[in-house]
Amino acid sequence: KNITIAIDGFSSTGKSTLAKQLAKHLGYIYVDTGAMYRAVALFSMQNGYISAEYFDKETLVNSLPNIKLHFEFNAELGFAEMFLNNVNVEKEIRTIEVSNFVSKIAEVSQVRAKLVEQQQEMGRNKGIVMDGRDIGTVVFPDAELKIFMTASAETRAQRRFDELQSKGDNVSYEEVLKNVQERDYIDSHRDDSPLVIADDAIEIDNSYLTREEQFAAVLELVDE
Ligand code: C5P
Repeated sequence: KNITIAIDGFSSTGKSTLAKQLAKHLGYIYVDTGAMYRAVALFSMQNGYISAEYFDKETLVNSLPNIKLHFEFNAELGFAEMFLNNVNVEKEIRTIEVSNFVSKIAEVSQVRAKLVEQQQEMGRNKGIVMDGRDIGTVVFPDAELKIFMTASAETRAQRRFDELQSKGDNVSYEEVLKNVQERDYIDSHRDDSPLVIADDAIEIDNSYLTREEQFAAVLELVDE
């Protein structure tokens, strides 16, 4: 039987790693909703709507109809890559610059409404694993399995730092930790659907779990 699996939690808790493993194992579709918010942030940067000094929210809201997002499965990578107006932006959306602006973009209720609608459309056929911040609460409140992932900010910053370093991104650990803490703050204080744990979600703190241990624990939940 195909179900809907919602994976929420703070940034860099390994949500996407787990979601990808699950989707592959179950033959499900995986949707990374953070990539969609990141693509809208990239669009805003490219068009000069957001910078360190200002944020022209109104122009972004008026431009929303011009933003077309879609995913394309890449068999070599084993997951779907993000496309912004038909351009593959999978690499560009993972930079620290985009990470620094994305939570401000995600606070705009019109942005959320547009993306949530598209996510619900993608989930109309079950057999889907979706990760984000509001999947179990807003996008799929009826999901059969909801997971909420946490780990200390320091653990998450270290993982993110290692990942950026391996990609040749020259950032300091302190900058990454600051970004993780800022995003945690903004994500949990949004007026509109703040990051909260759904009543029926199962919380996993993976500070001290290996990928394999975590995967085994979640698979048991899927089988129940
Ligand atoms: O998951 P990821 O860290 O790539 O998400 C980037 C940002 O997008 C988050 O920090 C959050 O501000 C926003 N986001 C969101 N709702 C989602 C997914 C991501 O607000 N469902």
